[in-house]
Amino acid sequence: MPTLAKFSVGVGDRFARQAKAQLRACELAAEAGVEVVPVWNKSNREHTIIGTEPATTRAAADAAVRELGWQKPYHVDADHIRLETVDRFLAPCDFFTIDVADSIGQPADPAAVSRFADRHADLVGRHALPGLKEPVTIARDDLQRVGGKYLKAAQDAGTIYRKIAAAKGAGSFVTEVSMDETDAPQTPPELLLILAALADEGVPVQTIAPKFTGRFNKGVDYVGDVAQFEREFRQDLAVIAFAVWRFGLPADLKLSVHSGSDKFSLYPVIRRAVRDTGAGLHLKTAGTTWLEEVIGLAEAGGDGLDLAKEIYATALKKKADLCAPYAAVIDIDPAKLPPADAVAGWSSERFVRALRHDPADPQFNPHLRQLVHVGFKVAAQMGDRYLRAVEAHETTIARNVTGNLWDRHLKPLFVG
Ligand SMILES: [Zn+2]
Repeated sequence: MPTLAKFSVGVGDRFARQAKAQLRACELAAEAGVEVVPVWNKSNREHTIIGTEPATTRAAADAAVRELGWQKPYHVDADHIRLETVDRFLAPCDFFTIDVADSIGQPADPAAVSRFADRHADLVGRHALPGLKEPVTIARDDLQRVGGKYLKAAQDAGTIYRKIAAAKGAGSFVTEVSMDETDAPQTPPELLLILAALADEGVPVQTIAPKFTGRFNKGVDYVGDVAQFEREFRQDLAVIAFAVWRFGLPADLKLSVHSGSDKFSLYPVIRRAVRDTGAGLHLKTAGTTWLEEVIGLAEAGGDGLDLAKEIYATALKKKADLCAPYAAVIDIDPAKLPPADAVAGWSSERFVRALRHDPADPQFNPHLRQLVHVGFKVAAQMGDRYLRAVEAHETTIARNVTGNLWDRHLKPLFVG
């Protein structure tokens, strides 16, 4: 099985033009003495909306690695796949994010739930785990309750894992299990029992993406109780270390933070927890490289700025449509979206400052940013016109793509 590096960053590249600029940020981390391995991810949903095939993500990643002479590992992630969507990802991907969020709460066979509860009866009690002030407590009832809620999800993860393993060969790919796209967060004791169920299913899980407490909206900062997040994040890290030992899960098992880009208020907390415990981390960004393309176009001025304004105006018109698939992961106040004719009069600087995620800038508008984030379909529908503009303004865009990933993400999370 390919071991996954201790630190890895999931990068999305909706139009497959920025792999080199993204990889450059990992090079900067390497130059600063930290190995952060890139994982190019693109979900089935994105491929479907844009009309692309997973093989194009592989081709772009391979080309960037070749051009920059990157010698460290890298991966291509079949992001949020399920049994019915995994097929076209099998050949080009070597990292699979098995999404079983929809199976949470689905009834498992009651006999199987009872067997699960019996098998893990010895987990009942208080576990004083290294690094935690409070023990993690599992009650007898938890086994039945968590089994009832999550066992089907673990079984489905097993089914999908075995399909991938049958096609590619066990041990030839990285396995992630994601449960983030659901309503209720998973508590650390639940995470422990979920890992027990995955181990029972024989899923060699290397990264697990729970839903954390608070809101992880796309492309904007965390909204929630940072102190509670820190407490639970540290408990999750301790639970994972315990589960590796107790259930014989892969030693490189680590947390995956989905929609992890732009969560600036969490980075110092995550950084401290990871440093204190020596744990690894996979941070999956939310496809925000696309926003850097729009920022780069706007910064270039002229026809680039015109195109950026056109994307916003069209996104505003198609707002309901564009937002629907992302309803659970965005919070847009329509009253805070500037009308298209106002934006039409903006300077390059004004547009860039509204869109770029600089929380200290009074001109920054998170509502506009979230709308443009889900608006990539508008650019996809522009087809070649959009791609030609991105290529024409490559230098400006690349500077923004690399700068965003390095200065605002990799540096605060992994370096120093
Ligand atoms: Zn996710």
